[in-house]
Amino acid sequence: MSNKKHSIPVAAPALVGREKEYVLDCLETNWISSTGQYIGRFERAFAEFCGMPHAMSCSNGTVALHLALLALDIKPGDEVIVPTLTYVATANAVAYCGATPVFVDAETETWNLDPAQIAAKITPRTRGIIVVHVYGHPADMDPILVLAQQHGLFVIEDAAEAHGARYKGRIAGSMGHISTFSFYGNKIITTGEGGMVVTADAELARKVRLLKGQGMDPNRRYWFPVTGYNYRMTNIAAAIGLGQLERISWHLSRRREIAAGYTQRLSHCPQLLLPPETEWAHNAYWIYSVVLTDTCVMSRDDVMAHLAADGIETRPFFVPMHSLPMFATLARGEKFPVADRLAARGINLPSSASLSEEDQTFVCERLLTLVQG
Ligand SMILES: *Cc1c(COP(=O)(O)O)cnc(C)c1O
Repeated sequence: MSNKKHSIPVAAPALVGREKEYVLDCLETNWISSTGQYIGRFERAFAEFCGMPHAMSCSNGTVALHLALLALDIKPGDEVIVPTLTYVATANAVAYCGATPVFVDAETETWNLDPAQIAAKITPRTRGIIVVHVYGHPADMDPILVLAQQHGLFVIEDAAEAHGARYKGRIAGSMGHISTFSFYGNKIITTGEGGMVVTADAELARKVRLLKGQGMDPNRRYWFPVTGYNYRMTNIAAAIGLGQLERISWHLSRRREIAAGYTQRLSHCPQLLLPPETEWAHNAYWIYSVVLTDTCVMSRDDVMAHLAADGIETRPFFVPMHSLPMFATLARGEKFPVADRLAARGINLPSSASLSEEDQTFVCERLLTLVQG
């Protein structure tokens, strides 16, 4: 069925900078493992991009979350509050520590965890909150930070989808005690597979460095004071990341342009709810997403199937964590109506930085025809 002429991916890397040159340099100089100049250069450049003193590279965004939780000493019996509408890695990282993820529903306005519903989830076992900036729109951080301070909780920002997003002018990753990013191939910038942990706290940074390098004492070879992990990034991945990061302004502005192009073409359509951008937010628009309203007759899955037949790749919204088999019992029959509704009706549209104007017009024409039925 798929029409070769139009094969439009939902998210593809755009290697528009010096990635190839830097990778070749790794190969030519034989520095292909997890030491080499690109690791430090990428970490320093990323720290600067976030306006933060410490950035520690690692193998992916999932282990970035695991490292952040380990550095905060999360243990079995602890509870960590997470949004139910997120990618599974957010909740899995909590489970890796033997701790319990406690889910919070989304809010209608931003699709992020609802700050007003967090307080009711806090128990004597609660240690912290992982805030996710879903699809690139920042969560409403101020009430969350106030609540966390009142209760002595840590805040982790899972900024895997939100490189360069801003909340009241503050960049994503600079507001929590510790923050994590992903550089998977479909993210705003990529290293193939990769992640970063960012913090202003020197002690947390020290722990992350220790734990990601197998726990080896930096001053004593083969002395391991703790059980660590091999969560390092390779020099090759960092070389790609540095090439990407040098062009971050282009990547970010392309995503804003694509979002503006969709909004312009789709905003008159009552069958579609368009992605939020509150007055205090600068949305990174990782993936431009629409939610079908009640006036749309065709089902979400049918819309997606028809688009796929035209060579247009889309994705459904994340399945909320409380619905997944390994977490369902934790949700104890609680209801998450906003996340459920978004998850059932949301579609991620093609949003690669390389998306052409012509392809975007085609996606919108097809989508409008289907939903306006
Ligand atoms: C992609 C993503 C991750 C995990 O990143 P990987 O690099 O794929 O391990 C974590 N959290 C969220 C919200 C993500 O979107």
